[in-house]
Amino acid sequence: METMNVTELTAPKGATSRVSPRCSGTLTHAIAEGPYYKPGSPEKDMLYEEGVPGERLTVTGCVFDAGCRPAAHAWLDFWQANGQGRYDNAGYTLRGHQYTDASGRFILETVVPGRYGWRTPHIHVKLRLNDNSSVLTTQLFFPELPSNQGDFLFDETQVVELEKTPGGKLARFSFVLDTG
Ligand code: FE
Repeated sequence: METMNVTELTAPKGATSRVSPRCSGTLTHAIAEGPYYKPGSPEKDMLYEEGVPGERLTVTGCVFDAGCRPAAHAWLDFWQANGQGRYDNAGYTLRGHQYTDASGRFILETVVPGRYGWRTPHIHVKLRLNDNSSVLTTQLFFPELPSNQGDFLFDETQVVELEKTPGGKLARFSFVLDTG
């Protein structure tokens, strides 16, 4: 498995890039799985592939337990539409699972998802703290999109912090999970 070094990503290229993941202390909300989940995704953090439509996006953050302790080897399974709002339902493009590193961090290399139907842009994720804990299904959203208000699944607590980078966008989000 190819794992990108998180410290490289957070190297001092800009003041905001040095921010460490914060723990909100509030348990991450569950949000509907929707119709496009496929089990059995490959283990990879680089979901981007040449030719996939959409602006390049890096999503990074930490998985914490309810006591705000970083969770090493937490499992995260991401799936999303491409920049044109389309899922790959035949294969595993823009689908992949990964595990947090020793400091509880994850990094996802992907594209900014597009809208489809009544859905505002979002990234789906299933995650769990460890092999014995239950799976939480949720979604990540993007700030200040007018389409957020027209999507009844939109949840303000699941909005990433977003900044522009030379190559695209960088999103930060940290999850807080119960051990249950
Ligand atoms: Fe979706």
